[in-house]
Amino acid sequence: MDAETRVTLSEIEDTLSRKGWRTVFPAAMERIYQRDLGKVRERAVRRALWPTIVIYNLLLLTDIALLPDTAKVAAFLHFAIVTPGLFLLYFLYFRVEGFLQRQVAEAGIPVLISAQTLTVMALNHVPNAGYYQYFVPLILLFSNVNQRLDTRVANATTILILIMYVSVLVFQDMLPEQKLAGLSFIVVSSYLGLSANLRAQRDARYAFLFRLRENVRLRAAETDAQLDPMTGLGNRRYLASFAGKLPPADGEPRPVSAILMDIDFFKAYNDLYGHGRGDDCIRTVAGVIAETTKLFNGTAVRYGGEEFLILLADADSATAAACAESVRLAVEDLSLEHGSSDVSPFVTVSLGIANGPVTADSFQLLIASADSALYAAKAGGRNRVMGLEGEGSKNPELRQPALQRSRRVLH
Ligand code: GH3
Ligand code: MG
Ligand code: MG
Repeated sequence: MDAETRVTLSEIEDTLSRKGWRTVFPAAMERIYQRDLGKVRERAVRRALWPTIVIYNLLLLTDIALLPDTAKVAAFLHFAIVTPGLFLLYFLYFRVEGFLQRQVAEAGIPVLISAQTLTVMALNHVPNAGYYQYFVPLILLFSNVNQRLDTRVANATTILILIMYVSVLVFQDMLPEQKLAGLSFIVVSSYLGLSANLRAQRDARYAFLFRLRENVRLRAAETDAQLDPMTGLGNRRYLASFAGKLPPADGEPRPVSAILMDIDFFKAYNDLYGHGRGDDCIRTVAGVIAETTKLFNGTAVRYGGEEFLILLADADSATAAACAESVRLAVEDLSLEHGSSDVSPFVTVSLGIANGPVTADSFQLLIASADSALYAAKAGGRNRVMGLEGEGSKNPELRQPALQRSRRVLH
């Protein structure tokens, strides 16, 4: 399904609105279609093997009734050539990987059966051969309606069988009326079979496009629903999905670092510059957080109004401390004027870190610990990074990796 994320909605809409005698997909879409179809076809081929072999060999009874002179040859062809040939094609089908190669292996079935039927027909000059020829249109219908090969393979297979049939018919010692009837029958059944095949292909391809469109839309909606519209960072819903992916309560806990941060004296910023500029400030700070977080392979979430949370999975406490300090410095480096801050002439943030192996259940405790560390950073003078250093943790298992207090850069 991941390949589906690379297909855009407009590509799907374009393909849906395209007119043509057959539905052609762009290369990436065709690959997904062939991959999806491959699994369905595999099951169909597996299911069809025995019925095909049984029905085909039962038709030997009509050989005995219609053309007894060649019944032995027919039996030989049935059991010594075609039946092993069908097993061989089945074997080849599951050996090869490519879509076209598999289609060719499938197309081999009607071609092989037609070749046998036409050989027996060619060996006979009795009037009953005139009836025998009607097996060929039947084989064509089996191929086009039952096998439903891809349009181009179906066309090529039908043309090949038609050529084989006409080549035998021309030299056949048969009444011209019989030849004409046989020819009309096969041409009409080719047309009916191919048009049914084309329609089935189109339906299958459209159904696939509708399904794909649904999936792409759903995925986009899911992603959108997890983003904060103002900053483009993850939102609380994203946080819930992150927590949901953590090991279950009885699983092996995963090491996670949580860095909770908050803009210093932001109420005063709003009061001084207005809410609009306050929003701009949040967006700018969020941009810096996103960039820095990316460098540490983490994810950033807008936790509240001017509060953000960075999550680093499988990171040690030193990495978390480095990430937090980088964010603090990067925000400071923005040099966004803050005329009503008690700690700096510029906008600054305070950060609290908590580390620990967590499960989906203890994740909230990790955040609570980061919150305690943030509180300590605020109380300690703001514009700084604080770790837990043990005593702040409510969860004993989160206490162990004590963090070093980062050096504060004073103005
Ligand atoms: P401290 O240094 O202790 O964090 O002080 P503070 O003033 O930043 O803390 P407080 O939590 O009291 O104030 C946060 C302010 O952030 C209050 C609220 O009006 C503002 N705020 C929250 N969300 C938004 C937002 O989306 N846009 C703007 N402009 N302001 C917001
Ligand atoms: Mg706050
Ligand atoms: Mg604040």
